[in-house]
Amino acid sequence: MSADERELPASERREALKELLARARGCTRCGELAATRKTVVFGAGNADAELMFVGEAPGASEDEQGLPFVGRAGKLLSSLLEEIGLERSQVFIANTLMCRPPGNRDPQPLELENCHEYLLGKVELIQPSVICTLGNFATKLLRGDPTGITRLHGRPEVIALGRRAVRLYPIYHPAAALYTPRMLETLREDFLRLPELLALGPPEQPRWAQEEPPEPAPEPAERDEAADATPAPERAEADQLGLF
Ligand code: URA
Repeated sequence: MSADERELPASERREALKELLARARGCTRCGELAATRKTVVFGAGNADAELMFVGEAPGASEDEQGLPFVGRAGKLLSSLLEEIGLERSQVFIANTLMCRPPGNRDPQPLELENCHEYLLGKVELIQPSVICTLGNFATKLLRGDPTGITRLHGRPEVIALGRRAVRLYPIYHPAAALYTPRMLETLREDFLRLPELLALGPPEQPRWAQEEPPEPAPEPAERDEAADATPAPERAEADQLGLF
C-alpha cells in the first residue's frame, strides 16, 4: 500500500474536522476560559489548505463572532494575503488558544497545553505544507523553544508537529505591526516570500507518519466525557461556519 493510499481523503478529513469542532465547542478544560467565553473560536478556512496560520488567542470581536482574526489585525492579515494573491477561504486560520483570555491577558502555560491537542488535531486533519506562526506565542509553542520572533521571523524550517512534518514560517503578529511601521514593512517582506515556500510543496513526511492512518480527533489525556459532551443542537450547527 502506498503512502497516498494510507492518507484519508480530503472529504473524510473535513468530516473529522467538523467532529473535532463539535468536541471543542463543549470543552471545559480551562475552567476560567470556559466560564467567561462567549464562543469557542475553533479556527476557520479551508479544510484542505496548503497554508495555515496560527495566531495567539481570540480577542473581543473574535469571541463575539466565533471566528478568528475578524478585528483590525484580521483586516491587515486579509490584505497581506490579497497582496500575494490568496483569499482567506484558501487558507486555514487558527490560534494557540480557542477561547478568549479575560481582558486579553496572555495565554497561561496550562491553557496552551490544554488547547494544544486540538491544534495538533487540526494540523493532522488539514495537513498543511506551511504553517505560519504569527508572533511570539505561536512560534514558541510550535517550536517548543523560547527563541523570540525578532530572531526567527522570515526563516522557514521543517519541524515535526504531532505525526506531520511541516514547513514552519514564523512572522510578526499583524496586531504588533499595526502600530509599528517598520514592523509592518518587515511583515510584508516576509509575507512576499510565502509563495516560493508554498511552491516547495509539503516536506518529506517521517516514515512513521505513513504507517498508520491519522487519528480523526485527539482525545484529551484526562478527558471528562460528560464535561466535553457537546449538546446535539451545537453539533447540527457545525456546518454553519461554512468555511471548511
Ligand atoms: N489576534 C490573534 O492572535 N488571534 C485572533 O484571532 C485575533 C487577534
